[in-house]
Amino acid sequence: MTPLSSTRPVPASGAPDALVELSARLGNDPRLVQGGGGNTSMKAGDVFWVKASGTWLAHARERDVFVRLPLSDVHAAMRRADAEDALTALAPPGGLRPSIETSLHALLPHPVVAHVHSVNAIAWAARSDAETALAHALDGVAWAWVPYRRPGLPLTAAIRTSLAAAASPPDVLLLGNHGLVVGGADCDAVEARLHEVERRLALPPRAATPPDAQALRAANDLDWAVPDGSMSDWSMPGGSAGDATALHAIATDPVAAAIAMRGALYPDHVVFLGERAEAVDAGRPLSRMRAEVAAAGRTPPDWALVPGAGLLLAPGLSDGARAMLGCLADVALRCDAADRMRYLGVEDVAALMGWEAEAYRRARDNAAN
Ligand SMILES: [Zn+2]
Repeated sequence: MTPLSSTRPVPASGAPDALVELSARLGNDPRLVQGGGGNTSMKAGDVFWVKASGTWLAHARERDVFVRLPLSDVHAAMRRADAEDALTALAPPGGLRPSIETSLHALLPHPVVAHVHSVNAIAWAARSDAETALAHALDGVAWAWVPYRRPGLPLTAAIRTSLAAAASPPDVLLLGNHGLVVGGADCDAVEARLHEVERRLALPPRAATPPDAQALRAANDLDWAVPDGSMSDWSMPGGSAGDATALHAIATDPVAAAIAMRGALYPDHVVFLGERAEAVDAGRPLSRMRAEVAAAGRTPPDWALVPGAGLLLAPGLSDGARAMLGCLADVALRCDAADRMRYLGVEDVAALMGWEAEAYRRARDNAAN
């Protein structure tokens, strides 16, 4: 961990040290945040700092990842019919855009809010019986369930409904097919609460079997990359530097492979990896798979799985996509049956694929990393 430094320049947004440090700690834990996912915020009077769209929490110490906005302007924008455009327009000219999830942060009354794509929380919140199962695991926590909605205004509207229905104001929100939100009086309170929820939701990942190099070669007629120990640790499941075995588990673990091929469990999977995985093998190598997918009118994916053998990655696969593969492995190895999960529907996927705000996030991710 980088120690608090009095010599570090104050970011242009003026984001307080405590928020920067909390953000960097969360952002550097791949079980909580992968790539540009997750966001944090702080309110002080009418000053509101929120993570900028397309930036990584993990970079919070090295560069300014926050946008500072007047909270009253954010609330006024949220009341407009064109609220999403109005929120984007609050960005300073030429500056970073506020996160897609800004309205979620502004809606909650807590001075500090953290939203993470915790792999434990997703493994619970993507189950078809999530709400009942979570009620048992989170007994005694002030929490509320929020059914899946597209991130942005639709999700914020669903949160508003859940807050209104709650018997007492919740400090923790479990977002169906998405992740976790924790609010608190300050950064320490949020971090402590987040770790308590994580402790209750902790699921042990299944052990992964090593990849089968021969079967991977037989399917790899385009000379794609086979993940190995040289990949950076943030793209590895659980941050396990030097060991790609758990990443290949997306293909070598039967439950994980079934989940990957059936569909997407959470929004960032769709945004960075497409709707679902494609399988390749010696009889249907990469070139044939890509031709078939394109002929069906879909965009061929930049990654593929060889069932039982491992993963193949296209050259130039973005850092965001690599981080999201690590997330998929981490989530899927914590799920015990593919048919127990709830997958995003056709309309959910189309809403994410065709959304300009997500295209902006992807483009910034490619440019910044
Ligand atoms: Zn999110």
